[in-house]
Amino acid sequence: MNHKIRVLVWSEFRHEKENPKVAAIYPQGIHETIAQFLRKEKDLEVATAWLDQPDHGLSEEILAATDVLIWWGHKAHGEVADSTVQMIKNHVLEGMGFIALHSAHYSKIFKALMGTTCSLQWRESTDKERLWTIAPSHPIAAHLPQHFEIPTEEMYGEPFGIPEPEELIFISWFTGGEVFRSGATWRRGHGRVFYFRPGHETYPTYHQPEIQRVITNAVHWARPTVRIPDTCPNAQPLEPLPHDAEAAERPKEGFR
Ligand code: ZN
Repeated sequence: MNHKIRVLVWSEFRHEKENPKVAAIYPQGIHETIAQFLRKEKDLEVATAWLDQPDHGLSEEILAATDVLIWWGHKAHGEVADSTVQMIKNHVLEGMGFIALHSAHYSKIFKALMGTTCSLQWRESTDKERLWTIAPSHPIAAHLPQHFEIPTEEMYGEPFGIPEPEELIFISWFTGGEVFRSGATWRRGHGRVFYFRPGHETYPTYHQPEIQRVITNAVHWARPTVRIPDTCPNAQPLEPLPHDAEAAERPKEGFR
């Protein structure tokens, strides 16, 4: 690709308007904090969108011009229109990258891409989270230490109702004793999908350098290498076939 990687950072942008504690950490919204550190990368072109914009800030034109979509949702998954979910899913299958953050594990689009419950255990308390980089050669793990800590985070624990990850990059341990597959990848159609666990809205997680590094790496990893619209064509042979008496009677268009 010779153009910049076009990144769209989407979030609900509700907690920030309703909870002063969240607004103090993310005054312009979680999406804007993420966009700000991504904009430091010269090869990225970064835009934002949120739930309460017309059409949730998403359209065919916008998604067609998006290489990687980042998604943060929590309390309003059900308000995202099913038609929007289908539209995003189609673009992922055609090649668009998709990064689901934290409570986006329960978003309609992540569940649609996974096809499983995506359920987990959780606890909002005073846990410390220690992330272990278990695939240090993976591009998403570049420039990250063997392990790093988030001083306070919401706990997510196994079992996590996801399909077997194609690549597991991070595992988290929490003070309460739980563990969690916190950084995992899948391919869906031609698109690459990455789930990354940290990022509860009442903690300053997205201001932490290691977290910013993971998300930045993931954007580069998830960029499309192809973008192939879905078709299911009737194929004509490339070479002459042996005489086929019934060929003339078979439909040539629209046959499935
Ligand atoms: Zn949370």
